[in-house]
Amino acid sequence: MNFDNTEHAYELKSKWELLRAFYLFRLISNHRLVSFLTKVALVAIRLKLPISFLFKHTVFKQFCSGISKKDSIKEVDRLASHNVKSYMHYASESQKSEQGMDESLYNVIDTIKFSSGKSALPFTVFKATSLGPIHLFEKISSGTNLSFEEKNIWNRVLKRIEDCCKTAINLKVKIFIDAEESWIQSAIDDIAESMMNKFNRKEAYVFTTIQMYRKDRLSYIKRIIDKAKKKNFLIGVKLVRGAYMEKENIRAKNLGISSPICNNKKATDLNFDSALEYIIERVHVCNLFIGSHSEDSIIKATKLMKKNNYQNNHPFIWFSQLYGMADHISFNLAHEGYQVVKYVPFGPVKEVIPYLIRRAEENSSVSGQTPRELSLIKKEINRRKVNML
Ligand SMILES: Cc1cc2nc3c(=O)[nH]c(=O)nc-3n(C[C@H](O)[C@H](O)[C@H](O)COP(=O)(O)OP(=O)(O)OC[C@H]3O[C@@H](n4cnc5c(N)ncnc54)[C@H](O)[C@@H]3O)c2cc1C
Repeated sequence: MNFDNTEHAYELKSKWELLRAFYLFRLISNHRLVSFLTKVALVAIRLKLPISFLFKHTVFKQFCSGISKKDSIKEVDRLASHNVKSYMHYASESQKSEQGMDESLYNVIDTIKFSSGKSALPFTVFKATSLGPIHLFEKISSGTNLSFEEKNIWNRVLKRIEDCCKTAINLKVKIFIDAEESWIQSAIDDIAESMMNKFNRKEAYVFTTIQMYRKDRLSYIKRIIDKAKKKNFLIGVKLVRGAYMEKENIRAKNLGISSPICNNKKATDLNFDSALEYIIERVHVCNLFIGSHSEDSIIKATKLMKKNNYQNNHPFIWFSQLYGMADHISFNLAHEGYQVVKYVPFGPVKEVIPYLIRRAEENSSVSGQTPRELSLIKKEINRRKVNML
């Protein structure tokens, strides 16, 4: 794999789109500026000031496909014309009321219906805590008994989740259950296992998400694969490193318990690569969707596929990166015939601001991939200049 081929990486980008990406990444590579602007934006949101316009023509254009599904499908089709498929997500967050959770359910089901029958949209996604109160996930995960009233609320949560999975299966769209914080994840794991047991009989439709920054996850993968073999169902795994490291470490420190997170980045990388190896050898029982921007891990996965004599377009292995990021990985993989699916968030600017702030922060962190993005975009701008001469 050669991820340095910028002609493939940015074949979809016009000169103006490239320039916009270049200046935006340069701006957000300034950690101090991003952290200052984030604080200002959070205060402005709290005061209900109209700041959407600041996001609309900057980070929104880079990291979101549009305001509505109708806008976004143009971008989805553009990606698909270069063999990069998508999964769409209405990226509004923190629905706490029962009404808000029903709205989230409506949005997930609406996106499943929209994706159905479109080869460019083979997957959909939901976050379990957008369909139920976090404190109940936490209680269940810690083994605390629920009151009578809480049991009723929890039954409604389970029904919402089952409705999403059932609709996805009926409409032949695969569906991810996102992974969240470790103190609520056991409840999500149990639900995901029961959905996979129920719906993944002939084909893996329901995919659980596994975060390899957790020390215990390799043994968990081995356990659920064994269970699936015994009970005769298929596993679908979205394999990621994990997004809540700081929160996890702070909580463990405050509680005086050992952190569930690997001791360092190298240990997470080793854990991730071991999971890749274990699953790729068993991909007929455990379909694999790799959500990562790590070039090393992607190369490792492609080598493992070769070692196992799999074709690049193996039907049970997918690669995924976020919309607006790591196009050099997505497009170069697609060029080599691998199955690539971008995570494509959409929604009204005001509602997706928390998602946009997270992307800006992630890209401004010292360990982030922005310098690599910047150097590749610059290389492509120069390559096009030379070609014009
Ligand atoms: C398509 C897609 C879907 C995703 N879905 C989810 C999801 O459902 N749930 C979720 O939690 N995340 C999700 N993520 C985010 C993901 O978990 C990572 O946070 C993100 O992709 C960065 O990891 P990386 O593999 O791309 O690459 P890298 O940049 O190589 O790795 C960065 C990651 O390594 C880990 N890490 C960094 N420093 C240390 C350290 N000192 N000690 C231990 N570990 C460390 C952290 O997990 C960090 O995010 C998703 C990502 C993608 C691309």
